Amino acid sequence: MEAFRIGFGYDSHRFEEGRRLVLAGVELPGETGLKGHSDADVVVHALIDSMLGAAALGDIGSHFPDTDDRWRGADSTKLLLSVVDEVDKAGWSVGNVDITIICERPKLRPHVDTMRTRLAALLGVPAACVSLKGKTNEKMDDVGAGIGIEVHAVCLLKGKNQ
Ligand code: MG
Repeated sequence: MEAFRIGFGYDSHRFEEGRRLVLAGVELPGETGLKGHSDADVVVHALIDSMLGAAALGDIGSHFPDTDDRWRGADSTKLLLSVVDEVDKAGWSVGNVDITIICERPKLRPHVDTMRTRLAALLGVPAACVSLKGKTNEKMDDVGAGIGIEVHAVCLLKGKNQ
């Protein structure tokens, strides 16, 4: 088995009035939420896809189809825990993750450390192994117009038998 595997994940969701905003397992009170079948945690979804990608285990849609009522309103951190378990069973552990969140609002900086701590706990790694960066799209394109949030994630997996 190789010692390391890298994976990339991407997700985007549009804003929808009347929903809670949950990013990286942290609720940001008073902010407009995102449209989605689950809790629409776009950060966790991109992270899941980066982990599944690194382990070549498919994608979030094949594991948790949005046609399945089991995942309606689902807490995405539960999906993440199940993916951590699956990756573990396949012989991998998380080395580090690096995530970029792109949106014009809300301001992410006040929440970054809380989100990092939360993701680190879910992944079972030190917070130093979880990087999370927020930026705007400089008002360009749909994300720049404030229509939604986009997230890119990369994950390094380490072979546990190395
Ligand atoms: Mg999603």
